[in-house]
Amino acid sequence: MTLSVDSPQHKKAKALKPGSRRPAKELCSECGLCDTYYVHYVKEACAFINQQIAELEEQIHGRSRNLDNPDDWYFGVNQNMMAARKIEPIPGAQWTGIVSTIAIEMLNRNLVEGVVCVQNTKEDRFQPMPIIARTPAEILAARVNKPTLSPNLSVLEQIAQSGMKKLLVIGVGCQIQALRAVEKKLGLEKLYVLGTPCVDNVTRAGLQKFLDTTSRSPETVVYYEFMQDFQVHFKHEDGSIEKVPFFGLNTKELKDVFAPSCMSCFDYVNGLADLVVGYMGAPFGWQWIVVRNNTGQEMLELVMDKLETQPVMSQGDRRNAVQQSIPAYDKGVTLPMWAAKLMGVVIEKIGPKGLEYARFSIDSHFTRNYLYVQRHHPEKLEAHVPEYAKRIVGQYKLPQK
Ligand code: FAD
Ligand code: SF4
Repeated sequence: MTLSVDSPQHKKAKALKPGSRRPAKELCSECGLCDTYYVHYVKEACAFINQQIAELEEQIHGRSRNLDNPDDWYFGVNQNMMAARKIEPIPGAQWTGIVSTIAIEMLNRNLVEGVVCVQNTKEDRFQPMPIIARTPAEILAARVNKPTLSPNLSVLEQIAQSGMKKLLVIGVGCQIQALRAVEKKLGLEKLYVLGTPCVDNVTRAGLQKFLDTTSRSPETVVYYEFMQDFQVHFKHEDGSIEKVPFFGLNTKELKDVFAPSCMSCFDYVNGLADLVVGYMGAPFGWQWIVVRNNTGQEMLELVMDKLETQPVMSQGDRRNAVQQSIPAYDKGVTLPMWAAKLMGVVIEKIGPKGLEYARFSIDSHFTRNYLYVQRHHPEKLEAHVPEYAKRIVGQYKLPQK
């Protein structure tokens, strides 16, 4: 049954008050759904209450992951993958600005009337401010990651009020899962979904702790990324780049910094988007594109003349590095900086590259997250961890409970 937005059910459901406890409790990723009357559907829609990735994949892509194909475990349903970069990058974008360029092109060609994306507040460059952009300038103002939990779906009520019928939503996995679950209730003729991978996100306070613990100048950081060279790159206001090796991070201090939602997430690669744009499956300096269905292909084709592309590659063997990182992370081991730098240099020379680097990152995070759910929410483990993630984790020896 499709409910119209004026249906009594919508009217009965009232958005939850800002700051009030969410139905997913401490696992809430603040995706924004509960800030709207669509909170009515939270028990089915919330990624942390009702994990239903396989069912939604079937509905959206026409099939769920083939569990006999390990590439499907890792990268999700897809019909095409490539490495790409803008021939003319957008200054100030997170990478080369492929996401913003696709969104602008869709608006300019009237494929959509609005784009859900996230700008920052005037006072704080890292405080997310979700909007429905209606002009290219508004999309450009949303470029670059806000590395904090962002209530992107909080603008959903405005869609119904605006009368828009064709919409693009840009978002990360937990936002997209909830969006897909309520998609048919939005009264749209066409929804396009442009996703990015996402991992290790934090609250605004958690971000401050991360910056204070890790960067030499936290107040001037404009952007950061966990790069394929096994270092965190911080870009500062003056354009300088500071590099801190992953293995030198103060894991003991940082253990609680990541949001509990992100410690229990198994949708790193945004399996329910039509098109995903990240970087981790591509060579350093390139972006990684995963086309999940025909809608995603249509979106990508709009910008192909603005991109340089190359096939995806895969090199090395991640498995030993992942196995060794499991107990090290679990015990909160921090190496002295000289050893961390040395290890980073060695691993970069001989370590996994391209898709194998992406597998390294997925394996490391899924094993860590599996242990987290097992310890903190054992009653959720069976239903919350998707089958593909169980197979990924099953390749490793985990510490005893
Ligand atoms: P831009 O053109 O700069 O556009 C960025 C878009 O992201 C904007 O439209 C904005 O609306 C949206 N956005 C920004 N912050 C958020 C947010 N908090 N929630 C939802 N949407 C947001 N890729 C990987 O391959 N591996 C990773 O581990 C990884 N981790 C990520 C973690 C976070 C928190 C985020 C937000 C992204 C992550 N990505 C990751 C994606 C990657 O960093 C880039 O965002 C992506 O490659 C697009 O780059 P771009 O230059 O094309 O984007
Ligand atoms: Fe609501 Fe989203 Fe939090 Fe789930 S993650 S409780 S849907 S705001």
